[in-house]
Amino acid sequence: MSVLASKDQDHKPVAGDHIPWPQKNPSSCPISAVKARLRTAGLRPTRQRMALGWLLFAKGDRHVSAEMLYEEALRAREPLSLATVYNTLRQFSEAGLLRQVSVSGPKTFFDTNVSEHHHFYNEDDETVTDIPGSMIQVAGLPDAPEGMMIASVEVIVRLRSADGEEIETKRVVGHHA
Ligand SMILES: [Zn+2]
Repeated sequence: MSVLASKDQDHKPVAGDHIPWPQKNPSSCPISAVKARLRTAGLRPTRQRMALGWLLFAKGDRHVSAEMLYEEALRAREPLSLATVYNTLRQFSEAGLLRQVSVSGPKTFFDTNVSEHHHFYNEDDETVTDIPGSMIQVAGLPDAPEGMMIASVEVIVRLRSADGEEIETKRVVGHHA
């Protein structure tokens, strides 16, 4: 299926991992690639969505917070409010273009890689990086409650500089009906 052929506005958003993304030659017109990505997810490519989509998706896999993206938009001279950035990130997430990664308290990062994988969270510099899914095996998961199944298991390995050499692991188990 060609990305550029998907002009149909009416079709339903598809799951993030099925959204075609031109892998062959990422340098070939990233603007139209961002536009196609929004349309494929069922989102109209408004100026604001294009500006934020460009910042998010034109640089490979990224983990950004709303505040980081807001700062980037300011630096790129895009006059967007923080509320607009939050709303757009929420819309992108609901459309399957981003995955939310909650690391501590209210702090949420938005991940442009929506495939299942795990994360390091560096508490010193508050950055999130990927752990490839195949590098972690989770044993001894509980049975899901009656009528539920385990939809995904997400591991966050928290890092801090090695003085005390402590590594704490937080596990988030998603249950879906
Ligand atoms: Zn990630």
